[in-house]
Amino acid sequence: MVIVLADCVFCKIVNGDIPSSEVYSDDQILAFMDIQPVNPGHILIIPKTHANNLKELDPNVGAQMFRLAIRVAEALRKSDVKCEGVNVYLADGEVAGQKVPHVHIHVFPRFTGNGFGLKLGPGYGTQPERSELEEIAEKIKSKL
Ligand code: ZN
Repeated sequence: MVIVLADCVFCKIVNGDIPSSEVYSDDQILAFMDIQPVNPGHILIIPKTHANNLKELDPNVGAQMFRLAIRVAEALRKSDVKCEGVNVYLADGEVAGQKVPHVHIHVFPRFTGNGFGLKLGPGYGTQPERSELEEIAEKIKSKL
C-alpha cells in the first residue's frame, strides 16, 4: 500500500495530481525528470510511500531505489543525452541541501565544462590524525 501526504509535491506527482515526465514506475518507486535539471537528463528517484528522510525510508525500498539509480546511470550513458559521467546524489536533511522533504535520489549526467561542482569547506585537504579517525569511527560503529 502506498501512503502519500496531501501537501507534499512529490506525493502529488505519485498521485498524478501534478504531471511528471516519467522514466520508471513500479509498485514501490517512481523515477521522473527533474523540472530544474542540473544538466539535461537529470532524473529523480523517489519512494511512492512518503518518507521525509532516510530514517523514515524502508531500507528495502531504499535498496530498490539505488538499484534503479544504477540502471538509470547506465541508461543515461547508452542514450543520446550528453553524458561523460554520472552523479548519484542524495541530500538527507535541509542542512545537507534537501529541498523537498520526500526522500529522493538525484541521478544526473556530467560532462566537461558543465559548470556543476561540489563546494568544499575551508578545512578540506587537511588530513586528520589516525587517532581522530579512529575516535570518530568508534562513535559511528557504536550506533550501527
Ligand atoms: Zn511525499
